[in-house]
Amino acid sequence: MNILVLGTGYVGTTTALALSEMGWHVTGLDMDSHKVQQLLQGKLHFYEPGLEPLLQKHLQSDNITFTTQADRSIQVSEIIFICVGTPPLPDGSADLHYVKQAARDIGRNMNGYKLIIIKSTVPIGTQEKMTEWVRSAQRQSHPFDIVSNPEFLREGKALSDALHPDRIVIGATNEQAAAAVQNLYLSLKCPVVITTPRNAELIKYAANAFLAMKISFINEMARLCDKVGINIKEVAQGIGLDPRIGNRFLQAGIGYGGSCFPKDVAALLSIAAEHGTELKLLKEVVSINETQHLHLMHSARTRLGNFMGTKIAVLGLAFKPDTDDIRESSAIRIVRALMAEGAQVAVHDPVAKLPPDVNDAAIICSSPSQALENADAVFLCTEWTIYQQLDWVHAKQLMKRTNIFDGRNVLDAKKMAELGYFYQGVGYR
Ligand code: NAD
Repeated sequence: MNILVLGTGYVGTTTALALSEMGWHVTGLDMDSHKVQQLLQGKLHFYEPGLEPLLQKHLQSDNITFTTQADRSIQVSEIIFICVGTPPLPDGSADLHYVKQAARDIGRNMNGYKLIIIKSTVPIGTQEKMTEWVRSAQRQSHPFDIVSNPEFLREGKALSDALHPDRIVIGATNEQAAAAVQNLYLSLKCPVVITTPRNAELIKYAANAFLAMKISFINEMARLCDKVGINIKEVAQGIGLDPRIGNRFLQAGIGYGGSCFPKDVAALLSIAAEHGTELKLLKEVVSINETQHLHLMHSARTRLGNFMGTKIAVLGLAFKPDTDDIRESSAIRIVRALMAEGAQVAVHDPVAKLPPDVNDAAIICSSPSQALENADAVFLCTEWTIYQQLDWVHAKQLMKRTNIFDGRNVLDAKKMAELGYFYQGVGYR
């Protein structure tokens, strides 16, 4: 049986490879021929640990292939995963035009029963809309089921999350379709939640909103800690040991980013507004997050006087380590804010790159040392291991002024002070 994965971005490529690893024969379909060519050559078009060797292994064993041909690949597949993007529209709502296009492509090319599985993160009611889109595009009537099966993988840990998930959520309108999806994941050992499509759609948004809330909560506490001279790391440890709270997602810093939390919280706010209700807590979560990088900027401004004419090293551009994803990255916000205030910015990241509009204005460095040369201060924006393990004794000799603003609270404040640095984290010094 052939499985088609429609859309080979972060989620689609990971899903396709995880399914191959589980023993299924998979075709990845994307409209971007450049991505498809790269994947066929065994090269990933994004950075994600562990995926490239798996891609090469399954290409060699003929378990996986990639194509741009929608018609043929849809016709030869009974099971189709939809993994296209659902980016935010200017009002925060999810843009469903890729999902609609995918539904119409499937409907038009249907030649028999299809089980369609939506992995993309979509608003409540999308499974019902998709049913209509597929049906209205059909040239001839064929039966199909559409099941919601949201994806919870984390970039940087995508493969491990796909092969060892915490849970699988299946939102289906009938038992047979739910069982068919469950059967695909039979080799994975984890709880399976079988529910309605609408519940499954909201589970995904609610999960991301809750995690975003935890981060904004600890960030707000960190702001208070800075005012009263308390260490947020010790506060987080003290509250996180309560199993009702848990210690994960309690690391204060310059705010969350990435392709999911900001977009999904905005989409959930928009869904609520559409249904005439206001999610006040989540509005505050967003507001705290959007201003969180300014808190560290303020600390730095207080220390340096102002940024005009300074040289600032920014270590880390990705929204988190082990990915090259800079979507909604707080590091990029800091780069822009520093430039706007007249600083010369030297950036380094092991894999991520600056967006084109600020790329030419920055000094792009091939090593952390190069970025630190002659710097008045360093902003540590992504907690890559190489920055945590940097030779900070040597770094001191490179810098003009030894100021560290640690946007991820990963360096040891006491040790940095002993080395002679001025060290300021977020709610931590
Ligand atoms: P992405 O933008 O990286 O990839 C989407 C891919 O779909 C692109 O390669 C695009 O060319 C392709 N595509 C779009 N329309 C197509 C069509 N009609 N036919 C063929 N290909 C088409 O997106 P992503 O980050 O992989 O996210 C996909 C979905 O999964 C989103 O809804 C996202 O919210 C959700 N999600 C993402 C993550 C994550 O960590 N990135 C985690 C969980 C869920």
